[in-house]
Amino acid sequence: MPLESAPIGIALSQGGRYLQVNAAYVRLFGADSPEDLLGHSLMENIAESQRDLVRARNREREQGGQGLLEYETLGRRLDGSTFPMKVHPTTVPLEGGLGTLAFITDLTEQRHIQEQLLGSEATFQSYVEQSIDVIFVLAANGTFVFASPAWERHFGYPVSAILGQPFAPFVHPEDVAPCAAYLGRILSRGQAETSPPYRVRHADGSWRWFLANGTRVCAPDGSPQFMGVAHDITETRRAEEAFRENEEKLRVIFEASKAGIILVSEQGVITFANQCMADLFGLPLEAVIGTTYPDHLDPSEKVTGDQRMRMIITGEISFVSVERRFLRGDGTTFWGHLSGRRMENPDGSLRALVGIITDVTKRREAEEQQRILEAQLHQAQKMESLGSLAGGLAHDMNNVLGAILGLASAHQEDLPLESPARGAFGTIIQAAERGGNLLKSLLSFARQNVAEERALDLNILLQEEVLLLEHTTLAQVRLILDFSPDLRGVLGDAGALTHAFMNLCVNAVDAMPEGGTLTLRTRNLNPDWVEVQVQDTGMGMATDILDKALDPFFTTKEVGKGTGLGLSIVYRTVKNHQGEMQLHSEPGLGTCVTLRFPAQDLPAGTRESSGAQAAAASRGRLQVLLVDDDDLIQSSINSMLGFLGHQTTSALCGEEALAAIRAGARPDLVILDMNMPGLGGAGTLPILRQLLPTVPVLLATGRADQTAQDLVRAHPFVHLLPKPFGMKELRANLEPFLGD
Ligand code: ADP
Ligand code: MG
Repeated sequence: MPLESAPIGIALSQGGRYLQVNAAYVRLFGADSPEDLLGHSLMENIAESQRDLVRARNREREQGGQGLLEYETLGRRLDGSTFPMKVHPTTVPLEGGLGTLAFITDLTEQRHIQEQLLGSEATFQSYVEQSIDVIFVLAANGTFVFASPAWERHFGYPVSAILGQPFAPFVHPEDVAPCAAYLGRILSRGQAETSPPYRVRHADGSWRWFLANGTRVCAPDGSPQFMGVAHDITETRRAEEAFRENEEKLRVIFEASKAGIILVSEQGVITFANQCMADLFGLPLEAVIGTTYPDHLDPSEKVTGDQRMRMIITGEISFVSVERRFLRGDGTTFWGHLSGRRMENPDGSLRALVGIITDVTKRREAEEQQRILEAQLHQAQKMESLGSLAGGLAHDMNNVLGAILGLASAHQEDLPLESPARGAFGTIIQAAERGGNLLKSLLSFARQNVAEERALDLNILLQEEVLLLEHTTLAQVRLILDFSPDLRGVLGDAGALTHAFMNLCVNAVDAMPEGGTLTLRTRNLNPDWVEVQVQDTGMGMATDILDKALDPFFTTKEVGKGTGLGLSIVYRTVKNHQGEMQLHSEPGLGTCVTLRFPAQDLPAGTRESSGAQAAAASRGRLQVLLVDDDDLIQSSINSMLGFLGHQTTSALCGEEALAAIRAGARPDLVILDMNMPGLGGAGTLPILRQLLPTVPVLLATGRADQTAQDLVRAHPFVHLLPKPFGMKELRANLEPFLGD
């Protein structure tokens, strides 16, 4: 056959039977050689299902008798399998009439490709349909050519509403220009590019944010089009916004916080700190970041602070709330309250430690101040009650001692010089005098007011005292006087203050048995206060002694040496002067007692005249009216007066005395006791003064308290006679009224 080697199958047939077949045809139908086919019916090689159709076509062709009529059908191989083929039959004239020349193409491969093509198109179609992102196509003029169904899902209205419409009305007015520019770039350059974020309106009126990936494509007519895949970023943007907002909020909180905030890494390193923290540490912010947390603790806190931090890091504890002493950049410290906790990752591992530190120095100082005040109040209350106890006790003891002293002195003087009893009386007198001195101390401790108030120069007061003690008490120590030359005045009682300074000097000297230095210092503390310091380099006091040093009767000295009243009297004197007292002492180093008094501008006052010009009787003998309710006192004073050569009339109370005067008694002098039942000294004096305006009165009292002071001041020719008194004192007190 001439077309033996043609690549398509060729068969010549007549009357439906093969006359000739080429090699390709043989292969197509799975025959080994042309002989397997020649003579056979052509229909055997058509799939049974197709045979009627093929016969019908053949008939058609035969009747029409004209040229080519191509059709596709299913071929059947010798083994019975079928395959798609295209048949191209041509009627040809043969010797025995018309024959058919058929060209057969195997369509298997082509179909396969077609199927694949169809399949991928369907897949693509389904991608487009199911895509969450909106896939859309714009014509070069910006009108919608296509949009995927996602459009409706995103915007709530159908795609049909936009096809053929320009894009601009659907986009936020602010975004139209950037979108148009973007579209233009893609269409002109043809390079894929991501759009700027833009907004598209939803059916509900809200705007949704999008980002498109666009590229240029070719329309079927060859014109350029824009194809974009638009991704909804509304939620992402909202989350970002919320995140930014949160960040901003946190930043503001961090910065506005009055507490220092730090984040600390697992290694203890500070990775974040706010400005307040840097300010608290007194360092620039950069100098805080990168340091470790314990770097900022006072050396005394470093070890525990570091330990606690590690315990949180390892998770042994989850938070701390403590007060620690922190270090500032300049080396000073402050008290901070630290609350620290773990910040964890979702898996429970440590992300960071958060520490919040507030400055509590002020509060702690206030608490400390409060403690001191409470202690002071406590001390003051204790002193108060001890004072009234001591006062009462001293008053009663005074009378007892007065009686002993009076009687003993009277009898002693009565006895002949060589009498052995004289010595015994002397001892009694000495003992009673010692007791009297002790009572004086007790009384000055008990005294609530200053006996006398005048402007004093403490420099002078101290100077006088030094002169007094120089050759005795102070002889064994080195003395430094450090006086402020322009010291302001102090309003007060010179006697009481001298006594207080003396007590302090004696204590100081006692504390330096081996010698040492005693410094007396005065200065103006500020416009309101004058300060005196008595400082020694002696043995000092341990805390337990210091705590009790002010207590009356507390002494560490041997019996007979210390009374334990020294400092309590100093304390009381200072308090009575509205002053302050502080004790500082270091065992082995020494003690410094600081006294502060309110400063005064008053020019140095003059001592009030004591009215010594009383019309004293000019006789050597006095007629004395003795007014005292105490029998013992009565008899002892009586004895003394008798011994001194005076005459006595006794009255056991004020009323009795006044009655005697009204009855005509004219004493030269009255000894009037303050404390008596009935009118008492205070009630009697004014009446007595009326009855006998110029007769001197000695007001006998155990306490030179305010009432007594006032009485002395209010009435002329009245003098205090401090109890207890012995012969010596009594004589001295009567002296001014004896004349020559
Ligand atoms: P006294 O001196 O009679 O013991 P004080 O009231 O004057 O009583 O003092 C009480 C105690 O305080 C003393 O016994 C002593 O232990 C202690 N003290 C007072 N002043 C000093 C001082 N300057 N140095 C060391 N200790 C002192
Ligand atoms: Mg003392």
